[in-house]
Amino acid sequence: MRHIVGILFICAVMAALLESQEKSMDTTKSNSTQAAASAPAPSWMKSSNAKLESALVAKFGESQRARAQRGLHQVGEFWRAEDGDAAAYEDFVLANFAGDQVTLDTMFNRYQRLLEQLDGHMHEINREFRQQQDLDLGPVLPFDEGFGGYDPAAHVIDDFFANKLAFTVLLNFPLTTLDERLQQGKNWSRRQWAEVRLAERFSKRIPADVNLAIAQAGGESGQYIAQYNIWMHHLVDQQGQRLFPPKTRLLSHWNLRDEIKSDYAEGQAGLAKQRMVQQVMERIVTQTIPQAVVDNPGVDWNPFTNEVKPTTVQDADPSAVKTDVKATNAREPDTRYAMLLKDYQAVKKADPYSPTAPTFIDRRFDEDREIPEARVKAMFDQVLTSPLVAQTAKLIETRLGRPLEPFDVWYNGFRPGSKYTEAELDAIVAKKYPTAEAYQKDIPNILMQFGFTPEKANYVAANIIVDPARGSGHAMGAGMRAEKAHLRTRVEKTGMNYKGFNIAVHEMGHNVEQTFSLNEVDYTLLSGVPNNAFTEALAMLLQGHDLELLGLPGPDAKAQAEKTLNDFWATYEIAGVALVDMGAWHWMYDHPNATPEQLNQGTVQIAKDVWNRYYAPVFHKKDVVLLGIYSHMIDSFLYLPDYPIGHMIGFQVEEQMQKAGAIGPEFERVAKMGDVLPDLWMENASGKPVGPDALLEATQRALVTAGAK
Ligand SMILES: [Zn+2]
Repeated sequence: MRHIVGILFICAVMAALLESQEKSMDTTKSNSTQAAASAPAPSWMKSSNAKLESALVAKFGESQRARAQRGLHQVGEFWRAEDGDAAAYEDFVLANFAGDQVTLDTMFNRYQRLLEQLDGHMHEINREFRQQQDLDLGPVLPFDEGFGGYDPAAHVIDDFFANKLAFTVLLNFPLTTLDERLQQGKNWSRRQWAEVRLAERFSKRIPADVNLAIAQAGGESGQYIAQYNIWMHHLVDQQGQRLFPPKTRLLSHWNLRDEIKSDYAEGQAGLAKQRMVQQVMERIVTQTIPQAVVDNPGVDWNPFTNEVKPTTVQDADPSAVKTDVKATNAREPDTRYAMLLKDYQAVKKADPYSPTAPTFIDRRFDEDREIPEARVKAMFDQVLTSPLVAQTAKLIETRLGRPLEPFDVWYNGFRPGSKYTEAELDAIVAKKYPTAEAYQKDIPNILMQFGFTPEKANYVAANIIVDPARGSGHAMGAGMRAEKAHLRTRVEKTGMNYKGFNIAVHEMGHNVEQTFSLNEVDYTLLSGVPNNAFTEALAMLLQGHDLELLGLPGPDAKAQAEKTLNDFWATYEIAGVALVDMGAWHWMYDHPNATPEQLNQGTVQIAKDVWNRYYAPVFHKKDVVLLGIYSHMIDSFLYLPDYPIGHMIGFQVEEQMQKAGAIGPEFERVAKMGDVLPDLWMENASGKPVGPDALLEATQRALVTAGAK
């Protein structure tokens, strides 16, 4: 999340951000944050440091002793033999220690300005290189993918250590731990915060081979997940019936979960399908799934008895049939857990090079999220043990007319419902926005409807460029003030449709945040937001008012209550999934030499424990392993806790905007806070730290509105 040079500030869209299968670019960022120190310090370091400390104090006075000690320690943690011998080290320190305020200010200002240029131009190159892939500009040729995949900033951290610009920062500005930021950060000036963010850029010096190993592990597990399809027409029940239509190929877990969601519309027939999908998921988690059925339409499989036979129907292209596997039920040999174990073994290699966050779990919580793991757990626990869970569950049972079954963690019957059909909305939008230019021209007007003054609305609009997207749309902020934010939106030949408009308003919300948090923040070293969840909350806030922008009535109380209950139930589900993800990572750190089979057993036990504690009392069934099904757990490196935290932040931002009345000025005020601790950002915005209270209070009200009590 810190602005390590060259990262893309793209937000992968999403209406349903928090359950989107796209993981945000934030993961890429945090992986690159793992740029870091180790190898034992050269033997001369200690005596050099003693000499240097005396020399610096003699030159700049006793008042600089503490700074000198800190700087020498910080440089010493990262200096390697190839950076120079004792004489080179001593020359470097004596030449680059800023021992008076004027020199320090000059250094700070110049670094800030030049790093903004570096970030901005690297980002500009990235944006240009991805243009053909991102925009609707005709065919993508193979070499376009080469440009799109190129990261000009990949070696910047290495370069900055090699040319010693990183050491100059470490010599003069403080590295901090999350604990220090939490304890002392409230009392720091904005300039102190900017200095902390400056130093953080160089808090790691990870060797290239370690970064490569991490990237390879990620690539391999991503590949494994990307091919994990189930051919649904080849699932058979006890009577040999095929419940799913031919050619249906579902990717685990996203498509399987979405199948469960859509089956609610089919009543009793849907129920049989849902039970079967649940059975498939459980076999994946426990790895009792036959190897032969993974991405193979050549066999039929009864997931209940686990019987496998050569198929009697051909619904797929013959090339999809796997010819190298036998039609037996020999189980998948713990490959799922072998992948996870490889992820762990790769990221663990970076531990010695990250002195302020020495485990991957620390890096995820202390650096990427900046909320301590223990507090995150407590927030999840507060949601999971809330009495509102049982009340919501009861409401769901009433609506379903049956007791809950485990797959109902994905219940999707809370629906706002609309007075307008999609076709009616499409017609209204197409008339209003026949082209992307028409939308671009209307941005000032849209922003004024949110309560921005005409001056502000024009100013923000002038900082947004609308481009025709190849996909559904995304927002790409700028990396420096001289650049503009880009809103990528899809406009059909017949004009913009409602879905495109809804996404455009969301992405425009990102652009508005990006403009304020870059151009109006007091220090560009603090540009941005604490983490992805904050910009998503602001984007969804504007998106939620899209109907009003069309001159139609917004969602009424009933519709809002349905939406809140849907979010609450999704948070309840994903908080448990996140606890399993966190549990598995702790298990791996506790069992560094485990085999994939042992990790399988460990993870399955964790999934059961979380279920038994938080779900069994509601679902009246024990030892369910479903919470272990998420694919993110295998290929996204402890990413899942972001989802429930995101829901909580979304409700906090929403509640604050309701209190404030007009969105515009309040949006600007909160966005200008920039990239400080999540709790500080939220306290500045709402008077409270990050937490689930706003979500729980909204749910309480929603249950009343929905007639649950
Ligand atoms: Zn978004």
